[in-house]
Amino acid sequence: TARRPRKVAQTSVAQFASELKVPPSVLLEQLRAAGVDKRVPEDPLSEHDKSRLLEYLRRMHGSADAKNKITLTRKHTSEIKKADATGKYRTVQVEVRKKRVFVKRDPADATAAAAAADAPPAPAAPSINEKELELREEETRRQQQLAELQAAELKDKQERERKEVEQKQAEQKAAEAAAAAPAPAGATTLHAPKTADAKTDKKAKKPKTTTVLRDDSARRRTIKTRGDAGGGIGGWHGRGRGGHHRSAPSSAGEQTTFAQPSEPQVRDIGVPETISVGELAHRMSVKAAEVIKVLMKLGTMATINQVLDQETAMIVVEEMGHKAKPAKLDDPEAYLAEAEPEAAAADAKPRPPVVTVMGHVDHGKTSLLDYIRRTKVAAGEAGGITQHIGAYHVETPRGVITFLDTPGHEAFTAMRARGAKATDIVVLVVAAEDGVMPQTIEAINHAKAAKVPLVVAMNKMDKHEANPDKVKQELLTHGVVPEEYGGESPVVPVSAKTGQGVDNLLEQILLQAEVLELKAAVDAPARGVVIEARLDKGRGPVATLLVQSGTLNRGDIVLTGAVYGRVRAMLDENGKTVQAAGPSIPVEVQGLSEVPSAGEDMMVVADERKAREIALFRQGKFRDVKFAKQHAAKLELFGQIGEGDKKVLTLVIKADVQGSQEALIHALTRLGTDEVKVTVVHAGVGGITESDVNLAMASRAVIIGFNTRADATARKLAESSGIQIRYYNIIYEAVDEIKAALSGMLAPERKESVIGMVEVRQVFRISKIGTVAGCYVLDGTVKRSAQVRVLRDNVVIHTGEIDSLKRFKDDVREVKAGFECGMSLKSFSDLKEKDQLEVFEVLEVARTL
Ligand code: GDP
Repeated sequence: TARRPRKVAQTSVAQFASELKVPPSVLLEQLRAAGVDKRVPEDPLSEHDKSRLLEYLRRMHGSADAKNKITLTRKHTSEIKKADATGKYRTVQVEVRKKRVFVKRDPADATAAAAAADAPPAPAAPSINEKELELREEETRRQQQLAELQAAELKDKQERERKEVEQKQAEQKAAEAAAAAPAPAGATTLHAPKTADAKTDKKAKKPKTTTVLRDDSARRRTIKTRGDAGGGIGGWHGRGRGGHHRSAPSSAGEQTTFAQPSEPQVRDIGVPETISVGELAHRMSVKAAEVIKVLMKLGTMATINQVLDQETAMIVVEEMGHKAKPAKLDDPEAYLAEAEPEAAAADAKPRPPVVTVMGHVDHGKTSLLDYIRRTKVAAGEAGGITQHIGAYHVETPRGVITFLDTPGHEAFTAMRARGAKATDIVVLVVAAEDGVMPQTIEAINHAKAAKVPLVVAMNKMDKHEANPDKVKQELLTHGVVPEEYGGESPVVPVSAKTGQGVDNLLEQILLQAEVLELKAAVDAPARGVVIEARLDKGRGPVATLLVQSGTLNRGDIVLTGAVYGRVRAMLDENGKTVQAAGPSIPVEVQGLSEVPSAGEDMMVVADERKAREIALFRQGKFRDVKFAKQHAAKLELFGQIGEGDKKVLTLVIKADVQGSQEALIHALTRLGTDEVKVTVVHAGVGGITESDVNLAMASRAVIIGFNTRADATARKLAESSGIQIRYYNIIYEAVDEIKAALSGMLAPERKESVIGMVEVRQVFRISKIGTVAGCYVLDGTVKRSAQVRVLRDNVVIHTGEIDSLKRFKDDVREVKAGFECGMSLKSFSDLKEKDQLEVFEVLEVARTL
């Protein structure tokens, strides 16, 4: 296939038109408009003519940008046969797009730019190396095709989807191009309307190219390659890859200019909970390096295999100009959504209220819960062992009430933090002789934040110090308006000691519940929440589940978080075996695969296989999420250390039950400030083991044991490695101690105190020594070790240290008011007469939180 030789000595209008890929008629039109008189395509075209054309086009369409650069795109298409996965041969349309951007440096270059439509710069003799260039292009193209083929071979069905979208776009584009060609005379363009001119182009100089992109051929699979990125202008080149550079005017009205023709394509990118950098890049059809670059700009160093959490990934996607959509790919949980019975609401029946008791320490929460339980719980058969399962229900003549008996707002908040809403009503215990205290206020705030109504139990009414009016006043000032003052909160005087008023309290709770119109389906698969969970030596994982709707039966398959299992045994709060539990009823179940997390949602799944599948999926997901989050935390830490001063107290927390673990994490991490931070590297339920100590060693953490102890090996290891283990059984003790530790870590506060004032009376410039000022101490003292601020007209112009302080010829430590002295300052020699020097010292003061 011989290449047709081209005349290169002088360009004709036709040749230039073909170079520019516009029909000669259009070019002639433009030349005429530019004042260059050419009539027929055979007319010769000088460099001068070209530059005049360029000037004209610029005047007509030039934007600020367009004045300085020209972007030319060119597209080659060819066909390749290749075997696909099934072994069948397929014709693949390969489209090679080339883009060149010429930047104008000075007006003289404009000519070059105009002429350099195709050949790289060297426009004065545009075609000396034409052949070589073409060969090279051919070669590049072939290599690109090869690379593309290999890539195509590798990409699996995921890729297919993407291509189909492209194919559609290609079709659309082909149609567009067809509509636009021949280009209307008014549409000035240097970009070829491709369909029509591809042919011309080929006839003119590329007879070898095998295929012309016909309209129907667009329907075939199209692979696109971005050509050499000749010009580096314009941000994200990568973004356009796989998208389409528009090279044809899409409508007659559109005036294409010299501006870069690539239009960034905005796509919807599905971002799962975790995604690797590589995969994210793949989804955006950019190189991983581009993603890494963006991450770097965001201050994160990442590798291609690094897993990003959803939030970070979404930021990257948005940064790169696409739309991020949180996606759940291959998520079997979709199954759950489908399986969810919608009719459940239809047969909803009233259900008992679930109550949490909150209040200040020692105001009688535990006593009240115990009293109610002792006297009201369906008086268990004689000898029935009451056991603590984290919740119990009482039956009163007016109805059933369920109490969560982990009092305190930590557990309540920790649950809420997990998104669980287990509580319908909060009973706020306030000791009548003590009144509203800090934790009372916190409890009020928590209840308010959760939009849960309050019933106040004004406790210890049996004491004669009791002052109910004072309590009500205090409640009022904190936004709790007692009913008798026209508010919404009943205030019930009670005594947990004598039992006085407790019945009334229960009644008030039920009245509040009536207002709330609590309802739940009964004849439906159970849904609920994990109240508490632990590992029992004999029985394995046990969990207290609060059924919130439906009915939980023995033998049901339960799924909670990444844990599942068949309910083997079900006990109520009296340790009595039950067969079923309806809405608002707590039960302790056995048979789960692992210890679930408190506050986790629980549901019954019909199919055990499905439950396992979802649990496994969640395990993987949780691991990934956890890992991604941990990693993020590390980076954060790294950043802070980099910034300088943030100190970190790292903790490993082990607790007896999930509830106290959550409560501790919550309470302790909250202690952090801008300067000191509490990080929990690990938290779990159970004794402190060797691996906990190892982790503490690795992360230089302190171990906190809450109602748990270290086993012998762990103890030994901790001793030998100097790891601190601290035991607590009251959360507030732990909080107070950690607070103290943090105070010790706070950088001492720096306080300045001004100790003297000095005036400059005379300035000597001594060649080898520098500026020495003859001064007079107006006030206080000037000390050699102090610092000074130079004030000129009461404006601080310098702050720094004193270099030397002299009385006559002698170095001195200090000079008092009323004396003269000689001074020079470190790294400041611009002292002038009348300058004043404010002398100050910096004191360090220890701080507490
Ligand atoms: P909590 O910290 O809120 O759980 O408070 P507790 O239930 O542990 O009670 C703290 C102290 O107050 C205990 O010594 C109880 O005996 C006492 N107490 C609780 N309720 C009453 C009450 O109604 N009357 C009297 N006199 N003492 C009470």
